[in-house]
Amino acid sequence: MPSLRHSYTVTVPEEPAAFPVDKPELRRKSSSLSRSMLVSTFVGLIINQAKNKSAQGLVGLRNLGNTCFMNSILQCLSNTPELRDYCLGNTHRTDLHSSRASRAALMEEFARLTRSLWTSANDAISPFDFKSQIQRYAPKFVGCNQQDAQEFLRFLLDGLHNEVNRVTVQPAASTEDLEHLSDEEKGRRMWNMYLQREDSKVVDLFVGQLKSSLTCTDCGFRSTVFDPFWDLSVPIAQKNSGGVTLKDCLRLFTKEDVLDGDERPTCNKCKARKKCTKTFSIQKFPQILVIHLKRFSDSNARASKLSTYVNFPLKELDLREFASESSERAVYNLYAVSNHSGSALGGHYTAYCKNPALGEWYSYNDSRVSPMSSSQVRSSNAYVLFYELVSSHSRYQTCRL
Ligand SMILES: [Zn+2]
Repeated sequence: MPSLRHSYTVTVPEEPAAFPVDKPELRRKSSSLSRSMLVSTFVGLIINQAKNKSAQGLVGLRNLGNTCFMNSILQCLSNTPELRDYCLGNTHRTDLHSSRASRAALMEEFARLTRSLWTSANDAISPFDFKSQIQRYAPKFVGCNQQDAQEFLRFLLDGLHNEVNRVTVQPAASTEDLEHLSDEEKGRRMWNMYLQREDSKVVDLFVGQLKSSLTCTDCGFRSTVFDPFWDLSVPIAQKNSGGVTLKDCLRLFTKEDVLDGDERPTCNKCKARKKCTKTFSIQKFPQILVIHLKRFSDSNARASKLSTYVNFPLKELDLREFASESSERAVYNLYAVSNHSGSALGGHYTAYCKNPALGEWYSYNDSRVSPMSSSQVRSSNAYVLFYELVSSHSRYQTCRL
């Protein structure tokens, strides 16, 4: 390995001539380039070293028998700049404690695979070794059955987090009474208590905090609960006319729900189980927001899939209306989509990702990677959306290079 003391930036290739790009993309090109040039020096070194056509994160993943669900998610994660840098720079090793290093096989294999996706000279590589590790961690992925990509993402992020959790000794659960605090302060304390137990690069990137407010319909008493979330699983709104937008789905997700019957919570004031109303809002926005469109239903034994076209923005998804605190600024840009085509009984997964080094969209279909227009990113196959925060306090403006 050569000396890493050189200062490097990623070489941004020229715009491919035959590549279809719509005009708003062109106008915004300068901003996406400036960000891609801020990729860390070490990553720049690695990418510059491999001077061949497939050395820019455009390497495909072979299908090992119904593994497209895994390939799709792996490509979305490979195009998540901070996670990629974490793997390419081997930063994850500093988070492994010697006592756990031998048990960190999943993170090692994930980092190795990500590195291959960014440096291999081949058009496609095999995720076999990685699959062996994820099977060891989550035996449900053994074999060649088609699996759910969103479920796989949850298992994978959870597994990676556990191996690089900076907390080695978890403190006893706090019994402190937070009920007298303001909602904002309570949310902040709950978040800090969470970080005392779960603190990793994966958490830094993917975890946000959801606020649930319960109001007793009998006495009017309102209580709040704060929970960390790894993704938002939003129901698909149904409309008779016009298109369904992502915001329609998020509004359906956050709209007031009535908890009655067996679901009745215990009201702290009535000291009894009472019918309550429940609303959700986002207390803390994650750096990477994963939105899972709930297309599949497995209720009543018959699996079914909704193929509703959901219109979602590629740029400037403003989620302020879903924030608990009105001051919170939450604007996101889309950078990856995991797609599912076919029915609930059988189908195929692909990924559309905006390559962070090139600033252009590519279609990742197992071993095939091909350029695509940003106007093709939206489809009724979109299943898991990956958005990155672009707020004013974004860490991109400070700690790179
Ligand atoms: Zn009550």
